[in-house]
Amino acid sequence: MTIEAERATLLRWIEAETPALVAALARFTRAASPNPPGDTREATGVLTDALDRAGLPHRIIAPLAEAPNLVAAIDGGRAGRHLVLNGHIDVFPCDDPQRWTRDPWGGEVVDGRVYGRGVSDMKNGTLALLFAQVWLSRLADTLPGRVTFTAVSDEETGGTWGAQYLVDHHPEVLGDCLLNSEPGAPTTIRFGEKGILRLAVTIRTPGCHGAYTHKSPSATRIAARLVRAMEAITRLPVAMEPEVARALADGAAEMDRIHLPGAAGVMRQFTLNLGVVRGGAKVNMLPGDCRLEFDIRIPPGERSATVRTALDRILADFPEATLEVTGLSEPTWSSPNHPMVGALTDACVASCGFRPRAIASLAATDARIWRAKGVPAFTYGTTATNVAMPDEHTDIAEWIGVVKTLTLAAHAWLHAEAAR
Ligand SMILES: [Zn+2]
Repeated sequence: MTIEAERATLLRWIEAETPALVAALARFTRAASPNPPGDTREATGVLTDALDRAGLPHRIIAPLAEAPNLVAAIDGGRAGRHLVLNGHIDVFPCDDPQRWTRDPWGGEVVDGRVYGRGVSDMKNGTLALLFAQVWLSRLADTLPGRVTFTAVSDEETGGTWGAQYLVDHHPEVLGDCLLNSEPGAPTTIRFGEKGILRLAVTIRTPGCHGAYTHKSPSATRIAARLVRAMEAITRLPVAMEPEVARALADGAAEMDRIHLPGAAGVMRQFTLNLGVVRGGAKVNMLPGDCRLEFDIRIPPGERSATVRTALDRILADFPEATLEVTGLSEPTWSSPNHPMVGALTDACVASCGFRPRAIASLAATDARIWRAKGVPAFTYGTTATNVAMPDEHTDIAEWIGVVKTLTLAAHAWLHAEAAR
């Protein structure tokens, strides 16, 4: 079979097996896997059943017994590159079932949609990649290289026991390129994401009776001045490789369309959120302490060191303040001109009839964990409809377009790399 004929065969299989795919998504959604608490065993069973039915070998890697990670590799019939597919099994919890019009754990299929907590983030994406693996395995004889499907159970609480554990202890999951299917929008391919720097600043002064304002500086007033000074972070110049800057400029209109106007601007700058302010005990006391917690997001192209230098300058004027870094992940990005972006673009044009834009993502995904290990990583998925909100759902027609795009892109990338 020619590559063209294989492509047509893949599309035919996807069309023919769409009802089975939808049934599997409903079942996967009914296997509740909210994290916390993070028991994903039943949901993992849905995936291993699907692999068993396709006759594909798999193994469980479970540093936490109730949160198994699943790895399933297939080898093609000839030499080539190694593509890794990655999704997560755990989902956000559902604390407000009374605000839903559907059962959050019912996996109801109504009017071309599948409803349920986690169906969009990201049971539909994880299942799309599993099925891509199954279809590619049927063409294994002519397939170059290797495909490793990974599904992890700790994404929503940081990844320590999921993707991070896998890449640290099982380097066979690293591969030459990663395809992840977190939701975003099918009109966009995500090649990077912002970094996060979390800070706690504590301001201490002697404090005193509120009538004796001459006796002690006020920690809350100093905090107010410091908050104003901290705004300088958002005006820091941003260094960005030309190809990243170009891609983000090209994708700006689409970013604003899918994330509301302003998103493209925010993507390309340092942002500062003062998430927590805690100071003073009583209205007639002069506060002797105040704690501020900041969340700073770092654009792709930049590093946290830029912020640290600026912070040192700002805090030099506030001797009463002490700074503590409470969290850090550097921004990560892969080349927006990587061949996988081309493969996804062509596959999307062929399956959906539109050309997606390469953009960066505002939220964090496990793709960052592969990028941090030097593996180019890309995310492509459905619209994040009502993620973490009541009535989360997936539009089946849109999802099938994503399934086709991911499958064709994986197939095309492996063949193109082998021909290089
Ligand atoms: Zn997710």
